Amino acid sequence: MSNHMPTMAIINPRTGQEDFDLPVFSNEQVASIARNLKQQQAAWWESGLNGRITALEQLTSKMAAHKAQLVAALINDTGRASESELEVDVTINAIHRWCKQAPTLLAKGEPWAAEIPFIELQQDYLPYSLVGVISPWNFPLLLSLVDAIPALLAGSAVLIKPSEVTSRFVAPFNEMLESVPALNKVLSFVTGAGETGHGVINTVDSLCFTGSVATGRNVGKACAGRFIPAFLELGGKDPAVVCQDADPELAAKALCWGSMVNAGQSCMSLERVYVHKAIADVFLTKLVQNVKALTHNYPDIQQGQIGPIISAKQVDIVEAQLQDAKDKGATILCGGEVLNLGGGRYCAPTVLTDVTPDMDIVSQETFAAILPVTVVDSDEQGIAMANDSEFGLSAAVFSQNVDYAKQLASELEAGAVSINDASLTALIHEAEKQSFKYSGLGGSRMGAESIRRFTRKKAYIRN
Ligand code: NAD
Repeated sequence: MSNHMPTMAIINPRTGQEDFDLPVFSNEQVASIARNLKQQQAAWWESGLNGRITALEQLTSKMAAHKAQLVAALINDTGRASESELEVDVTINAIHRWCKQAPTLLAKGEPWAAEIPFIELQQDYLPYSLVGVISPWNFPLLLSLVDAIPALLAGSAVLIKPSEVTSRFVAPFNEMLESVPALNKVLSFVTGAGETGHGVINTVDSLCFTGSVATGRNVGKACAGRFIPAFLELGGKDPAVVCQDADPELAAKALCWGSMVNAGQSCMSLERVYVHKAIADVFLTKLVQNVKALTHNYPDIQQGQIGPIISAKQVDIVEAQLQDAKDKGATILCGGEVLNLGGGRYCAPTVLTDVTPDMDIVSQETFAAILPVTVVDSDEQGIAMANDSEFGLSAAVFSQNVDYAKQLASELEAGAVSINDASLTALIHEAEKQSFKYSGLGGSRMGAESIRRFTRKKAYIRN
């Protein structure tokens, strides 16, 4: 990287001050790095799955040994401590898991006799040469590697462009990468904003994009223009249905966590609740008790649960949504404002009721510690209102009758449904899941498809 590269100033979310100059890669630089990665990919593929697993396990050892450096960078990126530590752990565990699964998922298998007489078939999985990853700001490391690792195991080279808002982690990560030379040749980062991302799309053979619906739509069109596969993991407005027979205390506790963790800035945050009228009062009382007990991680970042809102742009969206809800008659049970603490902007943990579907806070994605609650007359009404959304990422259902909860879960239009939990922690799991509606497009990031989606499937037919 040249010393004369253009840079963009990045703001620290805890202070509101610019404290980082991010190198901005030009499209020519991206193309040159991509060419180099493609040249190196053949040797990576030829090193075999065992060689690739060994290199990735070496990387996890480096990440574990230098965890403090990674966590420190992520803290500066995101303004939160415990989540950053957890993010590194979850990422390391995910790499281990994929390394364990890869031999089964990529096994070529023995030839078999086709139903048509005298024909023998064999299946093969051949990697795309270069996979691009464009990631968002909310889990910078995890959401860069969650697609990169399976692609590397499949035998592809990978070019990652993380969010410009949270790219401080790249420098310490690159140092770890340098100590695993085989991997360093086939995994590179480029930094910058949308224009750099556009350069990535123009050079890769397959693309994984995680981000907003608006950007995802443009990215999808650009990939279609190049006839390359695009895996789009987009926004959500995840609902929870709290049934008449739910345990209100358990639901209140789970939903407090599921909506407020990471200051509500997770794609799978639960962002709207439909609670049966029979238990609404006790549920709301418990929920507000739990939410009021949360504190900000200011001034001591190690204390408190709620970190800052990531950027001024997000603050504007959150304030506009709160104002819209107030103007249209919502009742604020707690919170209801964005605070300025030492220059960082923090959402006061908020619960609202008397909300209606025409409010942006109910229909649009909200990346903040805010939970709107609608009281419904029946569980069926809760399911219908939960499904009345353009999003379908994940959802939750609460009932003490697990069979009934499973039935309702099957009716919820979402790629993953938690029962009696808000299991963001199960973000990395072994079941395949695909987002519904505007929340995404393409194969599953989890399960068998997680690695195979980076391969071209090839059949050998012999008679
Ligand atoms: P964003 O869409 O603003 O940006 C995402 C990435 O796209 C960034 O790296 C950005 O630089 C890049 N980009 C912007 N314009 C581009 C262009 N024209 N071409 C190529 N790249 C471009 O999203 P964000 O604000 O960083 O992230 C928040 C969003 O991500 C939320 O909607 C959230 O729900 C979603 N998200 C989804 C998941 C999931 O798994 N479904 C996970 C985390 C976040």
